[in-house]
Amino acid sequence: MVSRVIPVDPFDLVIFGGTGDLAQRKILPALFRRFCAGQWPESARIIAAARSELSTDAFRKLVAESLRSYAPRRSGEVENLQGFLQRLDYVQLDALSTGGWDELAGKLTPDRVRAFYFSVGPSLFAPLAERIRAHALATKDTRIVVEKPFGHDLESARDLNATLAAHFYEGQIYRIDHYLGKETVQNLMAVRFGNMLFEPLWNSQYVDHIQITVAETVGVKGREDYYERAGAMRDMVQNHLMQLLCLIAMEPPAKFDPDAVRDEKLKVIRALDPVEPHHIVRGQFAAEADGSGYREVVGNPRSTTESYVALKAHISNWRWAGTPFYLRTGKQLVARSSVINVQFKDAPHSIFGEAAGRHANALSIRLQPNEGITLKVTIKEPGQGGMRLIDVPLDMSFAEALGPENQDPPDAYERLIMDVIRGNQTLFMRGDEVEAAWAWTDPIIAGWQARGDVPKPYDSGSTGPGDAELLMKRDGRHW
Ligand code: NAP
Repeated sequence: MVSRVIPVDPFDLVIFGGTGDLAQRKILPALFRRFCAGQWPESARIIAAARSELSTDAFRKLVAESLRSYAPRRSGEVENLQGFLQRLDYVQLDALSTGGWDELAGKLTPDRVRAFYFSVGPSLFAPLAERIRAHALATKDTRIVVEKPFGHDLESARDLNATLAAHFYEGQIYRIDHYLGKETVQNLMAVRFGNMLFEPLWNSQYVDHIQITVAETVGVKGREDYYERAGAMRDMVQNHLMQLLCLIAMEPPAKFDPDAVRDEKLKVIRALDPVEPHHIVRGQFAAEADGSGYREVVGNPRSTTESYVALKAHISNWRWAGTPFYLRTGKQLVARSSVINVQFKDAPHSIFGEAAGRHANALSIRLQPNEGITLKVTIKEPGQGGMRLIDVPLDMSFAEALGPENQDPPDAYERLIMDVIRGNQTLFMRGDEVEAAWAWTDPIIAGWQARGDVPKPYDSGSTGPGDAELLMKRDGRHW
């Protein structure tokens, strides 16, 4: 089964911050792979912009080097490299001054899709929007792509939304959360709304609880300043985990269209109850492999920033009243794993008696690594006298099920950037969604500050603070 590549319309993509880490590690490799897949029209162009003095040739060399590291070659890609590099251009430009903007304007082609990717620090998002408008670079086919973090709290997110709205209409603003571009995350919707099997059971009558885990082995090196100001709540929960929660919990949209999907996600966020302080565990890793803990890494011996959060959330609506959602995420943990577990309730009555034990179905959706779905079902233990039951996994690894051509599905950025060019906002966050998410997380953070809360230490390479286990244990459950 080979996936079909649908070519996009001709485009000019301007990457502000084209020399930076994200552009070199994710955006340009993603564009290269779409180029190799034949999705680009002949005339499409990428123009990188940053303050560094670089010739276009020097920029192309930089990109060739990055692609060597971040886009390992597959067949056909070596021949494509020169073709890709020829489509790159570079403009020296400062987002905070007027120099370079006329040169950029001169490189843009009229009457085609024009996308401006803001791959720069968040303090430059508003100045860039203002300057694009001031230099008359925005056409009716213009889109802007805004990276995370989108604000630091509700107030700053509102300000940023208002600034962007002064220059662009909502249909032109693509707030990126790369989790939404992951194949398995989109598969959440396909599994829920493409099958008859799951949706009738997808409610508090049949689902005992839902767990969402995003565990990382990496620490915060290289992002110390940002992370110290953000912490796990702002860095991960407010965006990635809440987006996953929305896709798991939302009502079926009438169609797979941007506003229908985002309306349903917004309703979930607005139905979230405030979180009780004793339903949250904050942690901070105590020692990295080289012996230094979070506080040493960020150089703040009194830091109270959390590198781990676990919490229990409730959604007050007809579908989910009474079904808790447990969310957890952390850095420097024992394994890198993003997984959603839907734990169904026990069968109401066991005809096999006490000896058969208690069994319940569970659906695990693995986002990474080894994307796939496992359904835990109960069967008879073979060869035993009487009727003893055991649980076995019905396991579907997408890579195995879809065959060797699909071992390497498109990266999230590949999908999302092509959606920007196509003008499809379904997998991007709308302004009101982002604000609603901040409105839910702000009081949690304010509560920590008011109480002078100090995160619980946990060992690097562990599963997180012991209190996170207790959070579940108190409810008679476990992660
Ligand atoms: P970075 O490595 O520091 O790159 C910043 C880029 O912006 C550089 O190309 C820099 O080049 C350019 N720049 C800085 N000031 C500028 C100005 N005044 N005018 C024009 N260009 C300017 O940062 P990054 O890690 O790529 O992150 C970029 C954005 O993506 C941030 O908002 C970040 O939060 C977000 N993000 C990054 C990652 C990641 O993995 N890196 C992941 C998710 C989100 P010059 O210095 O030459 O101007």
